[in-house]
Amino acid sequence: MKEKIEKLREEMNQKLENVETLQELNDIKIMYLGKKGPIVELMNYMKELSVDEKKVFGKLINDLKTEMKNRIESLCIQLEMETLNQKLEQEQVDITLPATKIRIGSPNILEKLIEEVEEVFLSMGYDVVDGPEIEEDKYNFEMLNIPKGHPARDAQDTFYIEGEEILLRSQTSPVQVRTMLKGGGKTPIRMICPGKTYRRDDDDATHSHQFMQIEGLVVDHDISLSDLKGTIDVIVKKLFGSSIETRFRPSYYQFTEPSVEVDISCFNCKQDGCNICKHTGWITIAGAGIVHPNVLKMSGYDPKQWSGFAFGFGAERMAMLKYDIKDLRVFYNTDLRESNTFDRREDFLND
Ligand SMILES: [Zn+2]
Repeated sequence: MKEKIEKLREEMNQKLENVETLQELNDIKIMYLGKKGPIVELMNYMKELSVDEKKVFGKLINDLKTEMKNRIESLCIQLEMETLNQKLEQEQVDITLPATKIRIGSPNILEKLIEEVEEVFLSMGYDVVDGPEIEEDKYNFEMLNIPKGHPARDAQDTFYIEGEEILLRSQTSPVQVRTMLKGGGKTPIRMICPGKTYRRDDDDATHSHQFMQIEGLVVDHDISLSDLKGTIDVIVKKLFGSSIETRFRPSYYQFTEPSVEVDISCFNCKQDGCNICKHTGWITIAGAGIVHPNVLKMSGYDPKQWSGFAFGFGAERMAMLKYDIKDLRVFYNTDLRESNTFDRREDFLND
């Protein structure tokens, strides 16, 4: 009996030493400690022993059972730990691997430029004003000193919606008229109006039936061309660099007198001559002038007391210059790759 127990112990120990998986351990546990296993068999056999023998062998069998149970339990814990560590090792994140690049969009380049312009004017105390895109002929033309039948209307091939009175605004200037009417001839005005305008144009690399203007208007006492020049200087230096110079050339618009065209020194070639400035060293970027007395009068401002200046930029043209864009249609598509190249261009200008 004693030998049988010892043999069983040896056999079990040997098996346990070779165990590699939890499944194998579980099989051994069932095989030896289960109801049909050798330990239960030995216990059943004890019934046939004398009381003294029962005492001796009962203890030996119980000891073996407890020993095996403890051994299996600690092996079980050990194997569970090993499995967990293996799993952790396999699933370890290698932080030295390159990350997946997340593609994000950039703001529309035109919107970015307009925001930049707005920021500069807001810092100079201007209001950013909005107005309707469907406009009355009165505000779009007549009150800007362009009466019906005037040849200046021909230059702005206008979309009429209803008869000759309702149209898609061909310029943002009607917002200036509306702002002056609100001012009632009493309040000074400092405003810019960035917005969409419409003209009958065939779309190509430099024309669009819809484009963005940024217009500005100041009405106050004793406003002169030098106030206009100072203001334009600030904005072009901000957009194109601090070394940029501005010059005015005489021009003609119905709603300003005198009228000027605004040129800036070429930021690309520093006036050595290049394609952008057509080898003149200067680039035209805006139309401007001193508000015509008739325009002030029609909107309720007495030209004897009040004076003002107005200017208008083409936002697309500014952005095309700034970001070296050859085709203005890129502003109205949504290709992320193009937005990304604009960022690089900006870095170049800022260097
Ligand atoms: Zn140039």
